[in-house]
Parts: sequence; structure tokens; C-alpha cells
Amino acid sequence: MATTDAAEREWVHLCSRCGERMYESHCKIICPRCGSCRDCTDP
Ligand SMILES: [Zn+2]
Repeated sequence: MATTDAAEREWVHLCSRCGERMYESHCKIICPRCGSCRDCTDP
């Protein structure tokens, strides 16, 4: 019934700028809202 998007993925990053969930693409983590991106190897 009530499924949360967060439960679909164990690996979820939140944008440090706007708080949007970020997705991974070719070892880059991209925010769909503000366009902020960072490398997935960041500490
Ligand atoms: Zn963002």
C-alpha cells in the first residue's frame, strides 16, 4: 500500500542545497531540481 520512494532504494543521497533526492548517473550524483552534481566518490 503505502510505499515510500526511500524504501525503493537503499542508496539515497539528498541534495545539500535544496534537499531534493539525487540520483546516480555514471558515478555522478545529480540533483534534478537545482542541477547540483558531485562525484560519487566524494567523502
Ligand atoms: Zn538540489
